[in-house]
Amino acid sequence: MKQFKTESKRILDLMINSIYTNKEIFLRELISNASDAIDKLKFISLTDSKVVSNFSITIATNKEARQLIIEDNGIGMTDKDLEKNLGTIAESGTLAFKKEKEEKTELIGQFGVGFYSAFMVAEKVEVLTKAYNSEKAFKWQSKGAEGYSIEEIEKDGVGTKIIITLKADTEDEKYSNYLEEYTLQSLVKRYSDYIRYPIKMELTRSKIKEGSPKDKPEYEQVKEIETLNSMVPLWKKQRAEVSKEQLADFYKSEFHDFMPPIKSIYAKIEGMVNYDALLYIPSKPAIDYYSKDFKKGLKLYCNGVMIMENCEELLPDYFGFIKGVVDSSDLSLNISREILQQDRQVKAIASSLEKKILQELKKMLETEREDYEKMFTEFGLSIKFGAYAGFGMNKDKLKDLLLFYSSRKEKLVTLAEYVKGMDEKQQEIYYASGESYEKISKLPQIEMAKEKGYEILYFKDGVDEFVAKLLTEYEGKKFKSVSEADFSLTTEEEKKELDKKTEEVKDLLAFIKESLGDEVKEVRLSKNLLSYPASLTSCGELSIEMEKVLNAMPNTKEKIKAEKVLEINAEHKVLEKLKDLYQNNKEELKTYSVILYNSARLIEGLEIEDVSDFVKKIAEVL
Ligand code: ADP
Repeated sequence: MKQFKTESKRILDLMINSIYTNKEIFLRELISNASDAIDKLKFISLTDSKVVSNFSITIATNKEARQLIIEDNGIGMTDKDLEKNLGTIAESGTLAFKKEKEEKTELIGQFGVGFYSAFMVAEKVEVLTKAYNSEKAFKWQSKGAEGYSIEEIEKDGVGTKIIITLKADTEDEKYSNYLEEYTLQSLVKRYSDYIRYPIKMELTRSKIKEGSPKDKPEYEQVKEIETLNSMVPLWKKQRAEVSKEQLADFYKSEFHDFMPPIKSIYAKIEGMVNYDALLYIPSKPAIDYYSKDFKKGLKLYCNGVMIMENCEELLPDYFGFIKGVVDSSDLSLNISREILQQDRQVKAIASSLEKKILQELKKMLETEREDYEKMFTEFGLSIKFGAYAGFGMNKDKLKDLLLFYSSRKEKLVTLAEYVKGMDEKQQEIYYASGESYEKISKLPQIEMAKEKGYEILYFKDGVDEFVAKLLTEYEGKKFKSVSEADFSLTTEEEKKELDKKTEEVKDLLAFIKESLGDEVKEVRLSKNLLSYPASLTSCGELSIEMEKVLNAMPNTKEKIKAEKVLEINAEHKVLEKLKDLYQNNKEELKTYSVILYNSARLIEGLEIEDVSDFVKKIAEVL
């Protein structure tokens, strides 16, 4: 007996203890796997004439043994494949198990748990399989969490046969329903109708007995093999013929998601390029979406034959979260995958798809705002990275898709909406950066800006400020960090007054600068701070937030430092104290300077280099 990999075991436990109430979907998952397996062999059959071409999936039952059997003549698996595919859930092993506290159903939705869902209804699962081009056949079997075994067997023909021995019926759940013709028939119709290969089953029909009298017909039960599904791929149908549920069911089965997509996009394009596509925005990113292991891509078909499971070239990185299928008649079936990636047609389809996606997202933003915001909350980061990547080469395409949190509206707004809300006296788009909306809203500079009635965009993702720097402006309005803006000085007089005050304490400020050394570039007075004694801003290209982001990157060897300015509140009584110390106790003024500077660092979310020294200094003055 072999053990499952840890992650798989936990998924299995979830499955066996059936946290998912909709158990019937296991059938859809197994049929979808069978269909994928046939897709793969069908592709090979294009170049290997020995491969049989009567592809189909067969469902059968054995009531006495409580067995449900699903068989395909697809590509099959070797013993190594069995080990790799059914012994562990994520091959890469990067599947850092998501936080325990997360909703369990949600968690399941993020894995390709397809095959394992059989354990929701099965006491035992056996997989008998023979791979294409392999002499040997194997049987994998498992009763669940304690492990699985693999042995060599005899099997005719390439393909896979899955035998599910159903659990005993309970009061809540009649597993034996899955042995009934009617149940199976309607489940196939409901979830797997569009599968492109016939799903066959022997059905019992009542027929008029041959030779029985016409006026008094006698009936007999006959068994006949029938095809249960209509086999028309969903993307070949007209949009109007397909219901929202059908679209969602197809998505769930094709992409092994337990949750419906946020949006389905139909594209039927004829002209320079020809293709049908069915695209989806998932409700959550894949668990590895924001890691480098993630592989974007769409399933690529040529006239209904799958030629590539994951064609990366069809999607730009920033739309990598989109899933879907593309079927085109313009592609050549026999070209190799390497050539396909360079293919002119593939490039043409990709660029047409990108236009379509952009168009649909813009429409969604206008007419389905709530869903758009949901989408942006999950995938906005990806779009923002897109606007930033490659020195902003795609920024113009993407800038109207961006949303940022607005201090005034207390929700996400577009840049266009922000600019629309500006009054004449405001010339710039103000933003403030920080780790969370909560922390940003408490920054010293924000207090004044809000009091003066300005709307501020809150940048909470590291990339936000980089995007703003790259965009530089929107509709002619430049981006400006609140830490560089002065909201207090609206009139010339106010400015003069501050200049006068500054002149008075010029030597004091110079002394503080001197005692802080290279830590700050400048020390100045500010009227921007309402209740805070001091704060930090930056004066160079690099802001404090950017310093944090850059230093958090794994490859930065030398710490990067923004040029910092210590602002001291001109209206705060701490200034009087500082003046006093400058006259009477310069040593203590040094201590004060360090405390003020470090407190300002803390507010900005920066670390203090020498914490114990800082604490000692506070104790001193206390
Ligand atoms: P997913 O289908 O999302 O990859 P599954 O757990 O359903 O996850 O299946 C794991 C893998 O096992 C599949 O990717 C496939 O390689 C293999 N597999 C499952 N069912 C079959 C089958 N009927 N024939 C061949 N291979 C299969």
